[in-house]
Amino acid sequence: MAVQRGNNDMSSYFVARRAQPDGIHAVHDRSRCPPECFTAATEYLGEFRETTQAVTVARLRYAHARGCTCCDPVFATPPERVQLALLRS
Ligand SMILES: [Zn+2]
Repeated sequence: MAVQRGNNDMSSYFVARRAQPDGIHAVHDRSRCPPECFTAATEYLGEFRETTQAVTVARLRYAHARGCTCCDPVFATPPERVQLALLRS
């Protein structure tokens, strides 16, 4: 079920301080990501309307920042990396 969001809806975004095994720093949306995303140390990025904006800001700190799969499928990890992550989890 898709969540409808208005134009003025801002979300809090966080980036993982620690890179995943594949070197990606995952960017998480506080309102959409499951709580599991925030158990590891995360760094507050700010309030953004789009995951793309949050990822852009995150990349100023971490070159390999990327929206996590639960945040935005468009910027999600490629399938082969998801499988790798599943194998390692
Ligand atoms: Zn997430």
